[in-house]
Amino acid sequence: MQITSQTFKANSVKALADVDLQRALGNVERGFIDKRQKAVDALPEFDALRDNAVAIKNHTLKHLDLYIEAYVAKVQASGGIVHFAEDADHANQIFLDIARRRKAKTVTKGKTMISEEIGLNAFLEKNGIVPIETDLGEYIIQLRGEHPSHIIAPAVHVNRDQVEADFRRVHVDLDPMRSLVEPEMLLGEARQILRQKYGEADIGVTGANFLIAETGSSVIVTNEGNGDLTQLLGKCHVVLASIEKLVPTLEDMAQILRVLARSATGQDMSVYTTLSTGPKRPEDPDGPEEYHVILLDNGRSNMLGTEFEDMLRCIRCGACMNHCPVYHAVGGHSYGWVYPGPMGAVLTPSLIGVEKAGHLPNASTFCGRCESVCPMRIPLPKMMRHWREKEFESHLQPTTQRAGLGVWAFFARHPKLYRAAVSIAMPLLKRAGGSKRRFTSLPLAGGWTKWRDLPAPEGKTFMQQYAARTNGAGR
Ligand code: SF4
Repeated sequence: MQITSQTFKANSVKALADVDLQRALGNVERGFIDKRQKAVDALPEFDALRDNAVAIKNHTLKHLDLYIEAYVAKVQASGGIVHFAEDADHANQIFLDIARRRKAKTVTKGKTMISEEIGLNAFLEKNGIVPIETDLGEYIIQLRGEHPSHIIAPAVHVNRDQVEADFRRVHVDLDPMRSLVEPEMLLGEARQILRQKYGEADIGVTGANFLIAETGSSVIVTNEGNGDLTQLLGKCHVVLASIEKLVPTLEDMAQILRVLARSATGQDMSVYTTLSTGPKRPEDPDGPEEYHVILLDNGRSNMLGTEFEDMLRCIRCGACMNHCPVYHAVGGHSYGWVYPGPMGAVLTPSLIGVEKAGHLPNASTFCGRCESVCPMRIPLPKMMRHWREKEFESHLQPTTQRAGLGVWAFFARHPKLYRAAVSIAMPLLKRAGGSKRRFTSLPLAGGWTKWRDLPAPEGKTFMQQYAARTNGAGR
């Protein structure tokens, strides 16, 4: 997948002017927030469950090597094979080797973010293998030649009319006079097309919400059942997962599951929670002949033991982006890679480098809603601040911004001078604001005044007003 995080600002300007996108983004704000809140309100122990989930993940991350070892042994014992992939190219090559050995021509895919991270679809197409997305949202965006814009609702940026137009453009064998006015009709048509594909596929690829060390199982949660059909009907099942998906036991998985769907879609549980352990056994009525797990690192082990380790607790529920005012305004594609919203603003620089993704931690109001709703209590704003510090230390910001921060830092270290300077500046700025008491343009504040006026100061500093009030209170 081509990375465009460097052009976040330009991407955002384009997104703000996109009428269809803005209409579609309203669904995120309206739909997800209320549903999550209702689900949380209905479960008094929700916060206790969050604490438990955090403790489970922290413990696992501290002993990740041991749990990976235990997991691999269990997968092997069940007849499966685990492959370790250092980076995206390595993971793709491992997949291609499996596909070539099986003479695979078609691959069905249940939703997997890791396949986006490694650019699997483009890689397979380049090598003559046809990937078919089976999640409805993923299928829609595959038809459109796009990438997901949300981690649990990949086509949230597309509206119904656009989907209808795409189906009519691609499904040319179907009756051109058919009605597609209701969402259910679109769903039925996609289902009809995809059902043929499951049986034809040589390999089924899924992601994993969890990998369980105790049993060697991979777990997917879906609402459409497409993951089950993908992994059961293909003759070979390949799980693409990253190392932080490990949890020690089935009981641990069950605990985290209780906060996952509630945080994501406001459901008590997703419709399907499916565990796969190894290939088909002789007594099984169905299942794949081969079972592989490609375990991807791609920079994650470098996050262990650093100020970004907490990010590895993420269970990809999407609650942070559903509550983020920046995401609501610009949508997921603006973030320029696989992971959008606040979680992307922390994870993307960790995985592809702050020099490519430095805009993302800056694209935050620091309102803190993301952290307050994160079921894994990930301190997202704090970690975005860490990335801003690293960006500054690496001299990646524009000179004017660095100079401004330098001046600010000087005054922050000299509070008396700061107070003197602002006491002089406040009345001057008040006068400069004129009768409207607003600035329509201001040097160094063009990013703000281009879109809206900046209120002029009222003439007194905060400390002056505070002192006046305190004195008043004492009188
Ligand atoms: S950072 Fe938290 S809220 Fe965001 S996707 Fe991950 S677990 Fe969910």
